[in-house]
Amino acid sequence: MVAKSSSKAKKPNKPASPPPQRKCGCMSMHYWLVEQFPQYRIAQTEIEHNFMAARRVAKTAPKKPYTISVVVHLLQAPGGAKITTSQVNAQLKTLNQDFRAQNFDRKNVPPVWKGLVADAMVEFQLATKDPSGIATSGVIYAPTNEIEFGQNDSIKDPSRGGSAAWPTDRYLNVWVGPLKDGLLGYAQFPGGPVDTDGVVISINAFGSGGTAVAPFNKGRTCTHEVGHYLNLRHIWGDTPDCSGGDSINDTPNAEGPNYGIPTFPKVTCQNGPNGDMFMNYMDYVDDEAMFMFTPEQVARMQATLDGPRRSLWS
Ligand SMILES: [Zn+2]
Repeated sequence: MVAKSSSKAKKPNKPASPPPQRKCGCMSMHYWLVEQFPQYRIAQTEIEHNFMAARRVAKTAPKKPYTISVVVHLLQAPGGAKITTSQVNAQLKTLNQDFRAQNFDRKNVPPVWKGLVADAMVEFQLATKDPSGIATSGVIYAPTNEIEFGQNDSIKDPSRGGSAAWPTDRYLNVWVGPLKDGLLGYAQFPGGPVDTDGVVISINAFGSGGTAVAPFNKGRTCTHEVGHYLNLRHIWGDTPDCSGGDSINDTPNAEGPNYGIPTFPKVTCQNGPNGDMFMNYMDYVDDEAMFMFTPEQVARMQATLDGPRRSLWS
């Protein structure tokens, strides 16, 4: 995610002035991967085909949650603000509430869509064992000389000041660091190169308290990016008109991203009377204005967990 008018702060590791609005780097990463990696192109086509096939079969809800081990890489620049354990824990708590529909603010979903608030049945826990089986806190403090990182995945590359992924078939890797140009975060869709799989979150948009800055200080950047990691698209379909979709039937067609804290209803694309489902995690609104996934989004995430990301939890 990128804030539109970026902060040019010399010390981006300190909480900067809040980015005015959310914008995600996920789709530009997707198009880059499509160009660079033929295997990603093939995998994405196959994943989409399998999802379309799976949705035609009535699926029973999983009996127990999918549990995912998380490793958090905290990139620590010299003299930069340090993310505390409580900030990491706050982020994990938000993920667990949001992906189990236990977030207290789901009560704010407009009455017409209350029946569409869905439990994704995904739970996250900090890794307790590292790849060698040695006990770990699941949090890596990685010293770096880089003042800030861009969207070129250097944050994942030790030779460019980043921190190497733990095996991405077993762990959800979350990299947190000072990001350039008001970037809030980005994720890699399933089917991409294994070394870079995971999500990247700005130090200013990770968890709550500490270095997190309003209006992106409630952990929802990570919820949004993990949604992408589990193959969800933006709710308006990433087209500048009403032509694109998110491959989901229970989210209304929408014209473009919504920002800030919109007022219900916001009608676009002849989607009245209820309008855009801007309170969905996959829109661009502020952290405090997003609070739901739908049943079809959940089906798409679960198809990903039963398919290309099966090794994460099984
Ligand atoms: Zn996004």
